[in-house]
Amino acid sequence: MTETSAATDGTILLAAPRGYCAGVDRAVDVVEKALDLYGPPVYVRKEIVHNKYVVESLSRRGAIFVNETDEVPEGARVVFSAHGVSPQVREAADARNLLSIDATCPLVTKVHREAVRFAKEDYDIILVGHEGHEEVEGTYGEAPSHIQVVGSPDEVDNVVVRDPERVVWISQTTLSVDETKMTVDRLRERFPALIDPPSDDICYATQNRQVAVKHIAPQVDVMVVVGSANSSNSVRLVEVALEAGTPSAYRVDMASELDPAWFEGARTVGLTSGASVPEILVKDVIEWLGERGFPTVEEVRTETETITFALPRNLRSELSAQGMEDARPHARRKSGPNHTS
Ligand code: SF4
Repeated sequence: MTETSAATDGTILLAAPRGYCAGVDRAVDVVEKALDLYGPPVYVRKEIVHNKYVVESLSRRGAIFVNETDEVPEGARVVFSAHGVSPQVREAADARNLLSIDATCPLVTKVHREAVRFAKEDYDIILVGHEGHEEVEGTYGEAPSHIQVVGSPDEVDNVVVRDPERVVWISQTTLSVDETKMTVDRLRERFPALIDPPSDDICYATQNRQVAVKHIAPQVDVMVVVGSANSSNSVRLVEVALEAGTPSAYRVDMASELDPAWFEGARTVGLTSGASVPEILVKDVIEWLGERGFPTVEEVRTETETITFALPRNLRSELSAQGMEDARPHARRKSGPNHTS
């Protein structure tokens, strides 16, 4: 048997805040309430939130995830995901007489409104974000003739504007705060009159999770981020940990993806989760690490979050008409979607 240098009294530094944000909590609740109210199937355009476990759990309850509205039967109900949709998607849904329930996070809607307003005022709008991400597609679709997407500081050189005095930037909600600042600094070098958005577009949850990771990163040998590969804010947490001094950082969907080799020689492991990750997945990782030499868990809290969002108005009205309870705003759930397994 090969001898390893695995710890026996290692410590987990557990970042807080982590996991579900208010927008994800609401979006998952929308699908659950729609299933309770109308019964399955409930169609959902795209993944309601970018988390494999959440999507699989809701699928088992009767949600059907589709890529586009033309896959939804004419006249059926469809939920739009937390990442938001463009006006073109709404029009396509209307053309098929779909009954839509909009689970777009209110903080994404805020960015859409900024795009619409600046386009009306005829600004050139630089949308800092990742091309191809659903949120970026939705925001871009609000004003395609005015918006250019810029993904990194290096892409700033390719930006062409009509009038350098009338340029504004907005952003995707789940970016790295530091990298976005670098991109905006480069933009401002090129366009000194660049206008900032009225308030931060990178949302409170993204920022808080990055601050928490930065805080523990220098103290740990390995950082584990629970989150799916298509979750922008989870992927950013890995980058933030590495930039803040963690020697190695890994993203996993769940405990079964962890590799014991990652922890050889480690004494302290950092642990966090993206904004779409139910706490049950973090608990599984704690248990896995506990069985492999990390029995002590210390939570390190850098912020306390209390924000919640109300359900979409049309869903609230229908719940109330059916005498069904809308318990929001409520304390944030500690685990994922209701599930029996
Ligand atoms: S990460 Fe931020 S913008 Fe995205 S759903 Fe959560 S609160 Fe809303």
